[in-house]
Amino acid sequence: MLEVKKINSILFDREQHYLLQQQLVRTYDAGIITVSLNIPGTNKQLPRYHQFFQAIIKPRILQFLQKNNINYQNMQQIYDHTGDYLIIVLPTNSNYLNIKQLLLNFETTSQTYQLLDFDVYNQELQTISRNDLNVEMRKCYLCSSPAKLCARGKVHLVSELLCYIDNVIEKEIEQNVRVK
Ligand SMILES: [Zn+2]
Repeated sequence: MLEVKKINSILFDREQHYLLQQQLVRTYDAGIITVSLNIPGTNKQLPRYHQFFQAIIKPRILQFLQKNNINYQNMQQIYDHTGDYLIIVLPTNSNYLNIKQLLLNFETTSQTYQLLDFDVYNQELQTISRNDLNVEMRKCYLCSSPAKLCARGKVHLVSELLCYIDNVIEKEIEQNVRVK
């Protein structure tokens, strides 16, 4: 597929996510969590990413929700040009700041979870940002600068970032095989 066509497909699918989010927030009168893999570039649908998300990430997220007594009302699973995407509908009147904080803590517990992008939205579909919690910006995979600055300045090659991601995924899959 042409690069520009891929970008358009990703943008179109993101728009669809937004429409679905609006619909869910309205239907359940509750906020949501969205989860995806943070993969730079346009090839977000590689089989290994999909396998990693389905076999390792999804069960861990369900475990996390259970452990924190977050009894979600609904979960939508999407697989499209953006890769895997989960929308979890939270209980009505959740403490969104608290949930965002829990997810940020979760994200920093391992290199594996650092690959994830969690977003929390309230019942008005307003995003709960790191600023709301006074938390530092997300760190780059490869250096200690904020990821946004590295992305904007194109500090690293996409191939370097993908290589890092592949290594983390491979290590995690290996460990899982060993445990079982
Ligand atoms: Zn960097």
